[in-house]
Amino acid sequence: MPNVCVVSKKCGGCQYTGIPYPEQLAEKQKREEILLGRFGKVERIIGMKYPCFYRNKVNSAFGKDKKGSIICGTYQMGTHYIVQVDKCLIEDEKCQQIIRSIKSLLKGFKMEPFNEDTGKGLLRYVLVRRGIKTGEIMVVLVLGTHIFPSGNNFVKELLKLHPEITTVVVNINDKKTSMVLGEKEKISYGKGYIYDELCGCRFRISPSSFYQINPVQTEVLYNKAIEFAGLSGKEKVIDAYCGIGTIGMVAAKKAKTVIGIELNGDAVRDARINAKENKIENIEFFRGDAGDFMVKMAAEHAKADVVFMDPPRAGSDEAFLSSVATLAPEKVVYVSCNPATLARDLEYITENGYEVKKIQPVDMFPFTEHCETVVLLVKKGKKGFDKKPFDKNQNVKKGRKNGDYRFDDRRGVNAYRLRREKK
Ligand code: SAH
Repeated sequence: MPNVCVVSKKCGGCQYTGIPYPEQLAEKQKREEILLGRFGKVERIIGMKYPCFYRNKVNSAFGKDKKGSIICGTYQMGTHYIVQVDKCLIEDEKCQQIIRSIKSLLKGFKMEPFNEDTGKGLLRYVLVRRGIKTGEIMVVLVLGTHIFPSGNNFVKELLKLHPEITTVVVNINDKKTSMVLGEKEKISYGKGYIYDELCGCRFRISPSSFYQINPVQTEVLYNKAIEFAGLSGKEKVIDAYCGIGTIGMVAAKKAKTVIGIELNGDAVRDARINAKENKIENIEFFRGDAGDFMVKMAAEHAKADVVFMDPPRAGSDEAFLSSVATLAPEKVVYVSCNPATLARDLEYITENGYEVKKIQPVDMFPFTEHCETVVLLVKKGKKGFDKKPFDKNQNVKKGRKNGDYRFDDRRGVNAYRLRREKK
């Protein structure tokens, strides 16, 4: 197994390069126990058999180095300097090859990388996504301007080099922003989206839709989440923060009805199409803020038996969690990609009527410090308790990027110690 990366210090994406995989897992287990151990037993983390080249989505920024040569890769952690990445340990190898081919084609087409300071040049980012089960590949060329001279020929040439590419999308991002994708896009070749398969369902994925980046571990994760929910076929289920509807659709096969809620309009469109194409009729999707939606459901005295929730790294919010407490489903299955915000949210939810029954870490992100966790919460008893306050900053510190909530071990450990001392 390759375990050496020459750019890891500059890139900063992987914190565990050079560390044997079993030690990485042990480190993650320890962190999970520090942050979540106070809620119950943390099961042994489920790792990967082969933890390399797992990322099915590769994003490469294009620019020039000091000598004026074209470079492409990731931004150096916390900066806007591009680190040339020739080989990455965790990104899908086919996606990496395609990015290298694009870089090699630029000169012949006199295509300059986009310069954010001067607003000149063309190519800003390249995003490549691969459906590991279907083999379909999407290339998104993100341009800094609207005009793409010899665009058709460029795409033709790329397809000659990589006939395995199934769709090419041109996206325009001419704003001063750290977001990769802009709002306008045009399909240059193929359907404009790809399919992949998970847990026996087929999913359509658009350029901006969220899709888990480690497909092997996603199946492990979803199977755990479904197992925790213990569905019998009679349940009304909510899939909050549902993305393209993945968890909800897998659950729908074992539940009475499912409602999915998601903020991103493209993801909701994909989710509805996915349900139709998989002939799943007992699921409905709504676009909106999960918190607002749950508040409305609670106000209408709607009923739910199981709530799956899978929020982004920043975790959930008071509106959502407090409405969960009001709706009082029998079970809440919390899928989290950030144990720090998970600990904060569990703190609130366990003080508002629920107890943690199971905590299962799953390693979705080998070589990085990140860790996914599935938690089963079960209703403690009757409704009617006084709601306790929600502290947004408990256990977490904000990263440099807005919304990037990072581990705060110090606070996690202190909170843990404090509780033990109180006892
Ligand atoms: N459950 C899905 C997606 C998880 S990622 C899966 O496993 O693939 C989190 C999702 O939450 C993203 O799709 C994001 O667009 C969505 N999201 C972020 N904030 C939200 C909010 N306030 N309300 C609803 N959805 C939100």
